[in-house]
Amino acid sequence: MSYPELKMLIAGEWTDGSSGKNEPVICPADGSTIGTLPHASPTDLDTALQSNLDGYNLWRKLTPHDRQAVLERAAQILEERFEEISANLTREMGKPVGEARVEMRVAIDLLRWYAEEGKRVYGRIIPSRFPNMQHEARKQPVGPVVAFVAWNFPATNVMRKVAGALAAGCSITIKPSEETPATAIAIGEALTDAGLPAGVLNIVFGVPSEVSEHLLGSPIPRKLSFTGSVPVGIHLQKLAAQNMIRCTMELGGHSPVMVFEDCNIEAAAKLCAAGKFRNAGQVCISPTRFFVQDSIHDRFLALFKEQVEAVKVGNGLDEQVSMGPLVAERRISIMDGFVTDAVAKGAELVVGGTSIHRAGNYFAPTLLQEVPDTAQIMNEEPFGPIAPTARFSSLDEVIERANSLPFGLAAYAFTGSAKTAGVLKQEIETGMLAVNSLHVHSVETPFGGLKFSGYGYEGGIEGLEVFLATRYSSEIYN
Ligand code: NAD
Repeated sequence: MSYPELKMLIAGEWTDGSSGKNEPVICPADGSTIGTLPHASPTDLDTALQSNLDGYNLWRKLTPHDRQAVLERAAQILEERFEEISANLTREMGKPVGEARVEMRVAIDLLRWYAEEGKRVYGRIIPSRFPNMQHEARKQPVGPVVAFVAWNFPATNVMRKVAGALAAGCSITIKPSEETPATAIAIGEALTDAGLPAGVLNIVFGVPSEVSEHLLGSPIPRKLSFTGSVPVGIHLQKLAAQNMIRCTMELGGHSPVMVFEDCNIEAAAKLCAAGKFRNAGQVCISPTRFFVQDSIHDRFLALFKEQVEAVKVGNGLDEQVSMGPLVAERRISIMDGFVTDAVAKGAELVVGGTSIHRAGNYFAPTLLQEVPDTAQIMNEEPFGPIAPTARFSSLDEVIERANSLPFGLAAYAFTGSAKTAGVLKQEIETGMLAVNSLHVHSVETPFGGLKFSGYGYEGGIEGLEVFLATRYSSEIYN
């Protein structure tokens, strides 16, 4: 098993494109070059767009049952190639291979769920105020889709866009992250091997800003779906506006975790540590600001510390490892900056706090306590393995602090009180809230943010809806 040759998928062909340009793919675990990724030229992008339009006009006319049959075959092919794809996901991204397998299972589940749900796209008949007239609202695919996604979930970030678009009857051109291309290519191969017609899916790579400017400058795409940071989301939304392209924005977060004195403290500490260091904290819904109620603060911190110290860091291909490297070297200095700033502002370093000196981008699992709300890490998304903790006294106070940032993606609370849980569901400004767990997504539930974390959904019936347009018609029937 080795890292595969990397190609783009344009108009049904696996190709190096015509730009003659490429870039290396670097393994985050040891800094070695594992692949060479071709870049698309403007001509390649135009070919992709035209084929996407042609593909759309073919794919949208199939029945949802015929589309589901292709997508189901692709799910079976992904299952056959499961171990190989999971290992390559770890090679290019760094996460432990056990996490890569879970991610692949979710990706396959997403494909199956969307494919089935595509059969249940219903319209409605609206009673008319005029005799013999019928109003009809029907849902139809919105058109060719353009998507750009981040590297942190190389399988599910891609699949949420691709499965949703294809199940709705749209075609899609996706630019996955140049840092994690092989997983996206493997998903594309499964779909083409399953019989997806040429042009319905294109996979391109290049300089991100150039690719997005070119694709969104075309009148062909009718929908943009983006997963990534807030600044890039705002930039892409402006580009999309030129051609009145509707958007889904899955952007950054800064999830508060509220640990109340009436919770199961042991269970909360265990879950918080497992959640914080999953994918080395490089998760948009990662638990990020830990607010712990005064009366249980010291006990919770002692238990949390034990859990952090038990995290085993290393190459994700080692089955014993529970946390891999960060995706790229640039992330190490960002982590250093967060720790230095927090300590300078009065935080205490409890565990970790530095990079680990071995080949690869390793940063120690880090726990900080008594972190002031003014610290950079309490305000900017860390996207790394650092857990900043602070105290709170009352429900009202913690709600105010939890809501104080411009993000609103996920939030978590641990409490034994149904009343507290009820107040939080009402008052916390977040797209997703979990009480007594860190579980905020399943393929059948809506995943999406509020405020600067974006808008639109992936997963659930809402995730299909964003790829559909409502069309109204009336008819006099005599
Ligand atoms: P980023 O926005 O810099 O990059 C994300 C992706 O967009 C990358 O693949 C990159 O190549 C691409 N990109 C960058 N500039 C682009 C441009 N001008 N045009 C087109 N594509 C462009 O973000 P990042 O720091 O690499 O990724 C982490 C961010 O993604 C975090 O903020 C995280 O919270 C967010 N994220 C959000 C979700 C969600 O569902 N809400 C999921 C995963 C990650």
